[in-house]
Amino acid sequence: MTRAAWIRLVLFLVALGVTGFLWSRALKSKTESKTVSYSELLIAIDKDTVSEVLVESERLVAKLKAPTAEGNAQSLVASRLPNVDERELVTRLLAKGISLSGHIEQNSLWPAVLSSIFPLVMLFFLFRAMGGMMGGGQGARPMSFGKSQAKIFDRSADNPTTFEDVAGVEESKNELIEVVNYLKDPEKYRAVGARVPKGVLLVGPPGTGKTLLARAVAGESKVPFFSMSGSEFVEMFVGVGASRVRDLFTQAKERAPCIVFIDELDAVGKTRAGGGVFAANEEREQTLNQLLVEMDGFDASVGIVIMAATNRPEVLDKALLRAGRFDRQVLVDRPDVRGREAILRVHAKRLTMSGVDLKQVAQRTPGMVGADLANVVNEAALACARRDGKTVEQRDFEEAVDRIQLGLRKDGRVMNEQERRRVAWHESGHALVALSVKHADPVHRVTIIPRSIGALGATLQLPTEDRYLMTEEELKDALVVLLGGRTAEEIVFTDVSTGASNDLERASELARQMVCRFGMSALGAQTFGRPGGSQYLGGAVSFEERNFSEATAQAIDEQVHRLIEDAHQTAKTVLNQRRAVLDVIANALLEKETLERGALEALVRGS
Ligand code: ADP
Ligand code: MG
Ligand code: ZN
Repeated sequence: MTRAAWIRLVLFLVALGVTGFLWSRALKSKTESKTVSYSELLIAIDKDTVSEVLVESERLVAKLKAPTAEGNAQSLVASRLPNVDERELVTRLLAKGISLSGHIEQNSLWPAVLSSIFPLVMLFFLFRAMGGMMGGGQGARPMSFGKSQAKIFDRSADNPTTFEDVAGVEESKNELIEVVNYLKDPEKYRAVGARVPKGVLLVGPPGTGKTLLARAVAGESKVPFFSMSGSEFVEMFVGVGASRVRDLFTQAKERAPCIVFIDELDAVGKTRAGGGVFAANEEREQTLNQLLVEMDGFDASVGIVIMAATNRPEVLDKALLRAGRFDRQVLVDRPDVRGREAILRVHAKRLTMSGVDLKQVAQRTPGMVGADLANVVNEAALACARRDGKTVEQRDFEEAVDRIQLGLRKDGRVMNEQERRRVAWHESGHALVALSVKHADPVHRVTIIPRSIGALGATLQLPTEDRYLMTEEELKDALVVLLGGRTAEEIVFTDVSTGASNDLERASELARQMVCRFGMSALGAQTFGRPGGSQYLGGAVSFEERNFSEATAQAIDEQVHRLIEDAHQTAKTVLNQRRAVLDVIANALLEKETLERGALEALVRGS
């Protein structure tokens, strides 16, 4: 517990004690006196059991000579009768020699007031204590409920993260170096009027080191790091999320230059649905809106860089990605074999090892991300401890990899050797076709590292210039490239796999558009169908309005089929002609997992 939490606890206990004391006194004073009727009081006086009478404005208190038998009361209390002359009573008392005194009540109010206020005070402290426990710290201001719970990681923290702790994601690091330089010396950038991105969005599968990278940027630039997780924004009461965002930015502005990091941005940043039926949605929307307001609300030169991470960029609200918000996106991808080795090296630093070949471990772990590899290293150390070993050896790593791979195979992130081979030839097929046909975009990178969503590998083509128009030849070649993967499987393995379904979908869609939208078929320069959409469904569901006959529909299908079949034949011809090159690329992929453009072109030239 922090010091502040202790103080709160003590205050709380004191409040509890005082309240208890007051209540017990109030109860006790009740037992000391017995409430009776006016006539009973007169009878008691007559019976000579009263020693003294006190006349108050509303009641009479008669002190008894001896406590009553039952209840042990020391005095009797009776209300005074309204508008009754008490002169006779006074005479009687005086005659009996009972002392009589009067007094006007005023301060007897205090205990009542106190005992009603104290519970409130107690509640107040209770809330404070609760807020503190949840926030883990700052409760300096009263009712700091909505205060952002952002933790501050300072450079004074014992274990600052640096870029050295993050391995295997060199490209992402390179992109972030500019942010570091800016935060180190915002003045320099301001002086030349350079605009630095306000928001940087780290995108990538879970466990690839996004959170780690954000922390490393803070560690490298030695600025405060405010971090909050998107899911924390959305918890609890309505309105709290929005006010937390506000407070987060207020705090950040006080400490600029600094980094505000929002982890799991998708929890707040999901596309705003049309009608917020559920309260949770509305809460999230308010939070998201506040975030947008805050991001727009300061000018980039104050030295705050907002970083965020997500593994589901596709669900993010488009408004977040607009210029002036998260306009720079950094891909943090699964590491390739060299990256994995580097990551293993980072984590293995704290082990005592003998004769371990981390390169071999890296080769055995395709598809694993940083978090998995950290886990492998830890499991290896545990395996060593289990067999009472002194130093971690290769066999401990083997055991660790086996254990973790079993788990990962179930969620489809790790392929077996056969699958890897198939994917390697499939992707090589795409790549080689792209390099062989005349009008295809150049291949930027081929990889067989499994992606987060669906695809087992990828061939990335980059258009060399921004394109607004595409010619028929170019579209036809694009079709050939799309079919290249499946065709390569056909040639090499004589059958095809399910891995190509996305290619086929895209190819069919493209072919259909060529026929129906662009007039690039034997059906001539004419469009078929009118794209429709419902304004009430926000364009989310659209449909084609069909404005042609059944016969035309058949003709369209035929044309689509013809385009795809032609592309298939072209791909087959190309790949059969260059079968040797195909195998060279595939084998290189199996070994290196990723081929960049330069390496790929060198391979093709060399063979
Ligand atoms: P993400 O935020 O992308 O889900 P994290 O940054 O939380 O992933 O990573 C979890 C842990 O996995 C880190 O604390 C670190 O120990 C390890 N890790 C992940 N990626 C890397 C990496 N590239 N280099 C070194 N360690 C990594
Ligand atoms: Mg994370
Ligand atoms: Zn494919």
